[in-house]
Formats: sequence, C-alpha cells, structure tokens
Amino acid sequence: MTLGTVVGHGGFFSGFAKALEAEKNHRDLRFQIGEGFGVGLSENIEAVLRSSGETIWCHCTSTHWQISGFSIYQHEQHPICHFDHTADSCVLIGLATKQTFWAQYAFQFAHEFCHALIGHSSNWRKRNLRQAGPNFWLEECLCEVASLFSLRAMSETWRSKPPYPNWKDYAEHLKSYADERIEKTRQTYRQPFPSWFAEVENDLRRNPTMREHNCRIALELLPIFEAHPVGWDSLQHYRMTVPSEEQTLQEHFEQWLRSADRSQHTFIKKIGTVFSVKILQ
Ligand SMILES: [Zn+2]
Repeated sequence: MTLGTVVGHGGFFSGFAKALEAEKNHRDLRFQIGEGFGVGLSENIEAVLRSSGETIWCHCTSTHWQISGFSIYQHEQHPICHFDHTADSCVLIGLATKQTFWAQYAFQFAHEFCHALIGHSSNWRKRNLRQAGPNFWLEECLCEVASLFSLRAMSETWRSKPPYPNWKDYAEHLKSYADERIEKTRQTYRQPFPSWFAEVENDLRRNPTMREHNCRIALELLPIFEAHPVGWDSLQHYRMTVPSEEQTLQEHFEQWLRSADRSQHTFIKKIGTVFSVKILQ
C-alpha cells in the first residue's frame, strides 16, 4: 500500500500517514538545484550532494531542520552558505564548481552543510546570529573537517552502495581527493601542533579563513570526528550566544558546552583539549 492510498482514506490513517510523512521530511535532505552547472545534470548533482551531506547527517539524530531544504546555485568565485533563507525558506548555498567534478561538489557542499548545521539547524532563529566573533576560525576548521570526513566516508559507501552502479569506480577518486589535501598539508606543516597553534592563534582571530591553517587544524580534529562521529550532533549547540569582540577560545568552548546536551560534553571537551583548553562548567 502506498502512502498516497492511505492518505486517501482519511481519519486515523490519514493522520498516521501525515505523521509518517512529517517524520520522513524531518530526516530527508531536500534539494533544489539551480542553473549554471554546465553539463552537470541536476539529478546527478543532487545525488552527490545528498551522499555528501548524509555522511554527516546520519550521525545527527537529535538535530532537525525547520527549513524546507537546500537551494543550490552556481557561484563564480567561492562557495558560500547565506544567512538569509530563500522566499520559500530554503538554506541558500552557492557552490563554485560545475560540470562533473563530483569530488569538488562533495567537498564544497560538506563544508557549507557544516555551516548550515551550525547556523540553520534545529531552532535556527536562536543561532543564526550573524556576528562571527573572534573565534570564527574554529567554525571554518570544523567545516574543513566536514569536507575531509565526508569524502573519506563517501569513498567507503560508494564502494558498495554508489548512487548509481556505474559510479562505483569513482570511490577511489573521492578518497584520493581528500588524502592528497591531507598529505600536502602534512608536508607543509612540520612544527608540533601546540607551539605552532600558539603562534598563529592571534592571526586566525583576525583572519578566520586562512585555508592552509584551517586545514592544518582540521587534521588534528578529523581523527576525533572519525572515532566519535556522533559529535556532529553537537554542532546544533555550537553557536548559541552573541560573541563579544574579545571572546576567548575558552569562553567559546564554555558556552558551547553549556548549550549542549550532557551526553555531548565528553566530545566537546575532547575538541577543546586539542587547543589546550580546559573547559570549566
Ligand atoms: Zn566556510
């Protein structure tokens, strides 16, 4: 029996079917794909973005969307997740790729999906604060983690369950896209993390998007997320207060922890430890 025929009967079954449908919509990632992606077909782009987002979303079991989906358009310069929703209440995301560069679509979307989790998920009116604050660099690093995490997870999934059977061989390419970025960063940065971070933290507070630095930090965080992927679920609590211009990293971690569910505290503290932040409750 299809959902449609159940709805047609009305009464109890109608209510039940609507609840089922609402639950399905609550978990489903929905997309509107705009123009400008060249020979990249909308249905294929959607399949790649869904696959990319799902690698993270499947761990966010207590996070939900009040938005009606993601509206994707081609951006000529750089990827972006907008603060303002579309008229039909979608999260608006620009991707700076086109044609059939699937690894690039996946990489960029996972980054913007992470911004969306932080700024637009669950009760988004509370967290869509717009003021970036001096620790915004950490959000950028988490989004870089999301890209690497997603590509590596997709490469596993696509080996057995690709969106289309003939995309199976592309799994290897997804993995090498992430691994090359990881290796290049490892080669560039030889200094032990704690002393290097102490030197660059102030630069990052002034300029949060230093991509190589962001990637260097992401490499410290990636193993934590891969070992505890349920940590993605804590991003819905990541930004709950307006940060002051002087907010320290410690203060940022403390507000994240205070907002989060108790079950997420160990994970958040683990992330803090990377930066030698001891979180007081
Ligand atoms: Zn970003």
